[in-house]
Amino acid sequence: MIEVQGLTKKYGPVEAVKGVSFTVGQDQVLGFLGPNGAGKTTIMKILTGYHYPTEGTAKIDGIPVQEDPVEVKKRIGYLPESVPLYGDLTVTEYLGFIARARLIRAEDRKRAIEESIAACGLEQVRRKRIETLSKGFKQRAGLAQAIIHDPPILILDEPTTGLDPNQIIEIRALIKGLGKRKTVILSTHILQEVEAVCSQVLIINAGSIAAQGKPEEIAGTLKGGDTWELVLKTPDTPASSAAASIGEKLKSLGAGGELSQLNAVALDDGTVKASFFLGGDTGGGPGAGNGAGEAIFDWAVSRGFKILMMNRKKLSLEDIFVKLTSDTEGAGAADGGRKS
Ligand code: ATP
Repeated sequence: MIEVQGLTKKYGPVEAVKGVSFTVGQDQVLGFLGPNGAGKTTIMKILTGYHYPTEGTAKIDGIPVQEDPVEVKKRIGYLPESVPLYGDLTVTEYLGFIARARLIRAEDRKRAIEESIAACGLEQVRRKRIETLSKGFKQRAGLAQAIIHDPPILILDEPTTGLDPNQIIEIRALIKGLGKRKTVILSTHILQEVEAVCSQVLIINAGSIAAQGKPEEIAGTLKGGDTWELVLKTPDTPASSAAASIGEKLKSLGAGGELSQLNAVALDDGTVKASFFLGGDTGGGPGAGNGAGEAIFDWAVSRGFKILMMNRKKLSLEDIFVKLTSDTEGAGAADGGRKS
């Protein structure tokens, strides 16, 4: 449905997008995740035909955007970051205007307006002037203009920015519903948004793709490690002395991974609660993953500890995002899909 190959965009000396390649299949919701200035909007503007790439190609339904931008625009609904609304029009008047601009035939216009009002839950405000609407309803009006011509593809640039928590939940539900019958690209820097709405994620950093795939696939391929949480019954008394020396003891774990972020406290019931990060391969290589779990178990038994609770926390999308977008060593470490 969407094919991007070797896309590069330079604004004078600024290389905003650097050789990016990805594809999006039908009825997928792809989350574009990246920090400010990563290049998300630039890619979206190229896909929607508002900018030309400096190099590379972008195809929508097999049509190169540079060659036939009008045909491409017919297939795309676009909600830019700042929604171009006309405040002095009512919702119905505004959608009527967009329907004419979209060259929807006169006999089909009423139906198109009614369908987009219904899909975006705008019935109660349809006769109100847009400037009097809440931000959430303005955003719904923006979504309604994006879908009025029933495009198979929706491109939404940070659609929940500035909304209150209830409005965010409503708009996300709306997008998720639309994603069942349309291909959606959604740009955001809100991690929960990706987890709530997207089937695929593409993490973009400084103009390049840092990771791509399903959130759990990316976690599986990142060379990182796991955070472990243990509650131990200790033979030592008081338990605080066991907590104080547990770091030293853990170093002899023999799990092969590097131990960091250790935190151990004695609890009131005489047990010790410890958490630590064990670097290694989360994919279950010899140094970590299941191998580490076994090593921790053996270590505890050999020291006379009884494990009352043991929990392995996989990397969350948030951990991955921070790792990929904050250190250059981490960037490019994941290849849960295509890299460019
Ligand atoms: P944000 O989340 O802040 O919207 P973004 O990921 O959408 O960021 P872009 O808006 O695509 O990022 O910007 C990528 C880079 O390109 C930034 O360094 C930005 O300053 C630069 N840039 C964007 N548009 C232009 C322009 N028209 N002229 C010059 N530089 C631009």
